[in-house]
Amino acid sequence: MVVKTQQISIPSILKIGSGEINNLGKYLKENNFPEIACFFSEGIEELFGEEISKSLKEADIKILHKNVISDISIENIMHNAFEIPKKVDALIGIGGGKALDYAKYCAHVLKLPFISIPTSTSNDGFCSPNSSLLVQGKRKSVHASIPYGVIVDIDIIKSSPDSCIYSGIGDLISKITAEWDWQEATKRGEQNFNDFGYLISQNSVMDFLCYQSIQIKEEKFLYNLVVALLMNGLSMEIAGSSRPASGSEHLISHTLDKIAKNPQMHGLQVGIATYLCSYLQNNQFDVVKKFLCSTKFFDFVQQNPLDKEDFINAVKQARCAKEDFYTILSEDKMIEKAIKFINTDEILNKLLK
Ligand SMILES: [Zn+2]
Repeated sequence: MVVKTQQISIPSILKIGSGEINNLGKYLKENNFPEIACFFSEGIEELFGEEISKSLKEADIKILHKNVISDISIENIMHNAFEIPKKVDALIGIGGGKALDYAKYCAHVLKLPFISIPTSTSNDGFCSPNSSLLVQGKRKSVHASIPYGVIVDIDIIKSSPDSCIYSGIGDLISKITAEWDWQEATKRGEQNFNDFGYLISQNSVMDFLCYQSIQIKEEKFLYNLVVALLMNGLSMEIAGSSRPASGSEHLISHTLDKIAKNPQMHGLQVGIATYLCSYLQNNQFDVVKKFLCSTKFFDFVQQNPLDKEDFINAVKQARCAKEDFYTILSEDKMIEKAIKFINTDEILNKLLK
């Protein structure tokens, strides 16, 4: 008899708390990474560079290679990856998104450990096994490896723009509709269902919804948001697919990225789409609505509405975004139902103009 076992990667360094950026050098030393390469998103070194170099200096950690990331095309990464000195022990990505996606993929190619230091948590990418990169000019999620380390300084997350926090909230709530789509796809014969991955994903979002505070800048709220997004990143690693974190609502957002005149942040689009898709799925609609109301997500998005025509077109075209991927939007009658809801729902009429 062959016993089926599965090996999954989890971060060896996992630190979330106030002032953690000052411990970076200490953690690198403890893990025996004396020589590193650092990748910053634009503007980040100006904000946190001083604390980082002080912490590295104290622990006698040397930066052998440094780069500020603006170009996340896969061609650029492949070209630059081999310029990194061979002696480097680990790659450190510090920033909102680009530096993390870049360094994560670079580390994957070079088979080196990657330490993820998000300065905002606008999506679950800081601890996922994927990198969002440009492939032949188009944004694509490319398989990479789960970070060796994740260090989140809650003080830094607190100082990030509200848009980043709301985007994180939108990306997190989307797991409710993504899980529904995954389960329904499984009933229709899709083979990749993973009970443990499903459970982790479900648990992280449910835990978060139980949290009563609605102050998005409160330390405890941010801690819970970070943990929930992190667990979701891991659920993708466990499932071996993006299914636990991405369903119909993500297809709408990906389509908006392609067709909208003014696309917005990933999690903001995903949050609006989750509200719609949970209605179509008849799946915890009231829970989603209440949570997005109480965190003032809707109020925030309303300040800069999405184009209604673009949104309707994205709903119509979303099912073409991924081949062989069943979601609620695969059903013809749901498109009609969605358009009717978009045109009549009071909340959506404020978010889409
Ligand atoms: Zn997402």
